[in-house]
Amino acid sequence: MTLTRRNFITSSGAIAAGAAIAVPLANMAIPGVGHAAAPKAGAQVPGLYRFTVGEFEVTAILDGYLNTDSELISGYEETEARAAHRTVRRPFTSTEMKIAVNGYVVNTGEKLLVIDCGTADFLGPTAGRFHDGLTGAGYRPSQIDAVLTTHLHLDHVGGLSTKEGEALFPDAELISNKSEWDFWHDDGARAQAPDAVKGFFDIARMMVRPYQKRITMTEPGKEIVPGIEAISMPGHTPGHMGFLLTSGNESLLIWGDLLHFPQLQFAQPDWSVAFDVDQELARQTRAGLLDRAAADETPVLGMHLDFPGLGHVIRENGNYRYLQTPWQYQL
Ligand SMILES: [Zn+2]
Repeated sequence: MTLTRRNFITSSGAIAAGAAIAVPLANMAIPGVGHAAAPKAGAQVPGLYRFTVGEFEVTAILDGYLNTDSELISGYEETEARAAHRTVRRPFTSTEMKIAVNGYVVNTGEKLLVIDCGTADFLGPTAGRFHDGLTGAGYRPSQIDAVLTTHLHLDHVGGLSTKEGEALFPDAELISNKSEWDFWHDDGARAQAPDAVKGFFDIARMMVRPYQKRITMTEPGKEIVPGIEAISMPGHTPGHMGFLLTSGNESLLIWGDLLHFPQLQFAQPDWSVAFDVDQELARQTRAGLLDRAAADETPVLGMHLDFPGLGHVIRENGNYRYLQTPWQYQL
């Protein structure tokens, strides 16, 4: 029903009549119903959100969040960081900066796809809820036809398999690309990596191994299924890629880890995170895609944008700003 001036007056009348009945009820003493303070839940409700892109239905699943520190950001400067926080009205902090970890399910009408599947228990108890979210959204892992991976970092592939080597999506094909796959399976690259990063190689290998017989390597520019194209976004990792969803006259640019700190990097896109394997290339990729998203007004979806990670990039006074998309009431 669309609320018009006429039917609004009618329904106000109905509300008034209802209120007249409600008053005596409220005054009645109902045995067993107390007014003592309810205990606080002390925990957030599950993070699930659904929206559409043309005929595609997308379900965002909050895997959780990570506490991060400004020490991870190269180029960081506190005065600029304070100003950036103020612009988006967030309390300033340089420690325990919370960033979201998002994963997604896309129902194309033909196929059920997962795009990145969270951290499992690799990064502590504040994240690792992707599979609970999947169940909560009404899906069984065995229904998933394919898992698309933006890259093979553990916060994107942690939910692929158990540590015992069992695929958690038993019937899914795994989609990656050759440069990403080759980098994480390169013993030379692992040997050269700092000790703290060697574990990233080990976990990537462990998570993808159960899918070895059903992996499809895509290439940037290639259509994975009708309406979903792989987009090259190198820098964060060598084969980091995004996905462009197109259905009807709507589209969505899924940009993976193009940026990690929405409260900082729209204002300071030159700042990079320590996890960017090639920081200069990541910076160039980010500059190009922010410019493109602002110019063509395509909505963007990011794995570390504030849940559900859906919004628009706008250019303002030679800078970028992020506008989160409002709740979609009807699918
Ligand atoms: Zn990530």
